[in-house]
Amino acid sequence: MFIEKIRYEITLKASFLTFFIVSLATIIRPLMIEQDVLFTYIGVFNSLAMGCVFLYLKYTKPKSWYPMLFTCVGLLVLTPITVVSGGVNSQFTYLIPTIPIFIALVSNAKYTWITALIVIVLVIGLYFSIGISPDFTNEIVPQSKTASRALWLCLSVSLSTMLGVQFNRVYGALGDKISEQAETDLLTGLKNRRSVMSFLQTAIDQAKSKNGQLSVMMIDLDHFKVINDTYGHLAGDLCLKQVAQLIQHSVRDASDLAGRFGGEEFIVVIKDIDAQRATDIANIIRLSIEQKTVSLNDRKEVKVTATIGICSLNSEQLTSIEHCVDLADQALYLGKKNGRNRVEVA
Ligand code: GH3
Ligand code: MG
Ligand code: MG
Repeated sequence: MFIEKIRYEITLKASFLTFFIVSLATIIRPLMIEQDVLFTYIGVFNSLAMGCVFLYLKYTKPKSWYPMLFTCVGLLVLTPITVVSGGVNSQFTYLIPTIPIFIALVSNAKYTWITALIVIVLVIGLYFSIGISPDFTNEIVPQSKTASRALWLCLSVSLSTMLGVQFNRVYGALGDKISEQAETDLLTGLKNRRSVMSFLQTAIDQAKSKNGQLSVMMIDLDHFKVINDTYGHLAGDLCLKQVAQLIQHSVRDASDLAGRFGGEEFIVVIKDIDAQRATDIANIIRLSIEQKTVSLNDRKEVKVTATIGICSLNSEQLTSIEHCVDLADQALYLGKKNGRNRVEVA
C-alpha cells in the first residue's frame, strides 16, 4: 500500500515533468534555433498527449498499471521526434537510458527487463530508421559513427537496467520492511491499532456491500496494573506477549484480524459470524488466557485473566468504526462491572 502510493507519486511527478519539459522545448526551441515546422507540430502533439496523461493520472483513482500507461505514451511521444531528427544520432536518444530506471522505480525487476528489451529493439529500429526517414534537423552528423552510437546506447540501456533492478531489489525490500513495521506492534508482533482500524473499515464496507455480519471484540486484561506492580514491567510485557499469541491462535488467519489496541487492550475483528458464534470464540480466548501460566525467569509464575466486550452487527446496523469500537467498549465496561474474567455482548 505504502509502496504503491510512492510509485503513483513518482509516476505523477514524472508525467508532469515530461509534460513541462516537452512544452517548454516546443515553445523555446524555435526562438533559439531555426528548425523545421514539423518539430513544432510534433512538439504540440507531444505536449497535449503528455498533458492528457498527467491530468488522467492526477484526477482518477490510482491503478497499478498507471506507470505502464505513462511509459507507453512516453515511448510513443519520443519515437517520432527521434526518427525525424536523425534516428539513433538524434539528441533525443539521450533520454532513452532513463526509461528502464524509471520503470525500476515504479515496478518490479521483470517489467524493468521487459522494458529494457523493448527499448533495445527501439534503438535498433532507430538505427535502421536513418535510411528510411530524412533528418529534418539538417545537421551534419558523421555516419561512420552511427553503428557505434547505437551500440553504446544499447550498452547504456543495459547498464541503467542493471542498476535500476539492483536499486529496485534494495528499495523493494526496504519498503516491505517499513510497511511491515508500520503495521506491527513492536512488543507483541500483532497488528497495531492503525492497521486494525484500516482492516475494520474495509471489513465494514465489505459487510455492507455483501449484506454480511461483523463482530468486534475488545479484550482487556484484568487488574494488569497489579501484575506490573507485583512482578515488574518486564514480567507484564511477557504476559502481554503470551496473551497476544493465544489471541492470534484463536482467529482465522485468512479472514479475521487480531491486534493490540493499546496498553493491555487487544482488539479482534471477525467477519461473517453472529453474536452467538462470536461469544463462543470470545469464551475460547478468555478460557485459554485463564488457563495459561506465564513462567518468569526467576521461576515465579503469573496468572492473568481477561474481560471481553463484543459488538456483533449486521449490514444495516454497521455505521462506522467508532460506533463498533464504542459498542464493544461499552460491553467490556459492563464485563468489568459484573466481576471481570467474563464475556459480555453489547
Ligand atoms: P482493569 O481490570 O480495570 O482493566 O484494571 P487494570 O489494572 O488492567 O487497568 P488500568 O487501566 O488501571 O491499568 C492498565 C495497566 O496496563 C497500566 C499500565 O501500567 C499497564 N500497561 C499498559 N501498557 C503496558 C505495556 O506495554 N507493558 C506493561 N508491562 N504494562 C502495560
Ligand atoms: Mg485497559
Ligand atoms: Mg485492564
